[in-house]
Amino acid sequence: MAELSPVLKQATPVVAARGEGVYIYDEDDRRFLDFTAGIGVTSTGHCHPRVVAAAQEQVATLIHGQYTTVMHRPLLRLTERLGEVLPEGVDRLFYVNSGSEAVEAALRLARQATGRQNAIVFQGSFHGRTMGAASLTTSGVKIRAGIGPLVPGVVVSPFPYAYRLGLSEADAVSYALRELDYLFATVTSPQDTAAVFIEPVLGEGGYVPVPDAFLQGLRERADRHGFLLVADEVQTGFGRTGTFWGHEPSGIRPDIVITAKGLASGFPLSAIAAPASIMDRAWPGSQGGTYGGNAVSCAAALATLDVIQEEGLVENSARMGERLRQGLEKVAEANPVIGDVRGRGLMLANEFTAPDGSPDAATALSAQQAAARNGLLLLTCGPAGNVVRMIPPLVVNGDQVDTAVSLWATSVEEAVS
Ligand code: PMP
Repeated sequence: MAELSPVLKQATPVVAARGEGVYIYDEDDRRFLDFTAGIGVTSTGHCHPRVVAAAQEQVATLIHGQYTTVMHRPLLRLTERLGEVLPEGVDRLFYVNSGSEAVEAALRLARQATGRQNAIVFQGSFHGRTMGAASLTTSGVKIRAGIGPLVPGVVVSPFPYAYRLGLSEADAVSYALRELDYLFATVTSPQDTAAVFIEPVLGEGGYVPVPDAFLQGLRERADRHGFLLVADEVQTGFGRTGTFWGHEPSGIRPDIVITAKGLASGFPLSAIAAPASIMDRAWPGSQGGTYGGNAVSCAAALATLDVIQEEGLVENSARMGERLRQGLEKVAEANPVIGDVRGRGLMLANEFTAPDGSPDAATALSAQQAAARNGLLLLTCGPAGNVVRMIPPLVVNGDQVDTAVSLWATSVEEAVS
């Protein structure tokens, strides 16, 4: 009998039968509060009726148009709508299917547009699993182990991870910018540097928000040295962090924005956007793909945008994020093993630390597994696996947040006892 490959590591033993709003139901109809949202994807909740209706209608109309053969209306409409939410002037788009593919596309575009080769990423970054994207990823060695040689020209710079560095946020920013400047002087000259890739909240690497001053420092260096600033908004975009884009609070404008996950409520779709001055330098025909900009995915994305805007999900993310954070802070006060609670909007982290200050992955994992037994689905992250993250659908309400906090408190107590 065929079985699934063990290469797929499963975080919970649940077999999902159906999903509705913030809940997943297993095959015995047991209900779980889903604070994973399919790794930050189902922001409008599972099977939002408007997304379902839009997809069903599109399935019956045109499933696959193939955008390099024929254009179709959902893709054209989505492009217009995304133009309204993207940063001013970052309005030339194309579509692929996954976050990794979009990252690959951004790397190609950055190299073609600048004629330079090197890319800078930050320690702990996650940009995907395909070869180019994995070459930009340093969130855990499992993504890179045994598959090399990776794509050359990637330079890794320290991330301003204030909690782990034991520094104030301002000192962590100064340190990381100093180290970056040192790399320009010693490893990758500005003339060889095509782009800097950054997640506005470090995602798989531990849910660490990037301080605004750091993004501003990157923007200033990108302007001074003529390289591109690429915001990987795959996990942070579409309201996840309490603003539409994760980079927004910093006031900077990225040169390339990458989006996926929350874009289409679970249908495979990703996009990259850049100003015409950059996109026009891409070599025609060098990017694309059979399934990119699939008509059903685009219809689902249009409905997703409607739901986000009409139901005020960005505001709800900020409000519920604050309520969740306050609850998590209380749990952390009662359990010193949780050394840091942080994040933005509904992208929150609980970092587990042993009394000697080292990462405590074992207790984090026990708490995550206890939570699943107690009916709350969660994921771990961080290079050491000692961070339990919370990423509920953006439709979550106050009662559901409070229930999750109470299940979390019980689960942490079970894990430490
Ligand atoms: N970039 C970021 C910031 C991500 O969080 C992810 C997925 N976790 C990716 C890229 C890769 O996306 P995908 O798994 O769809 O290829």
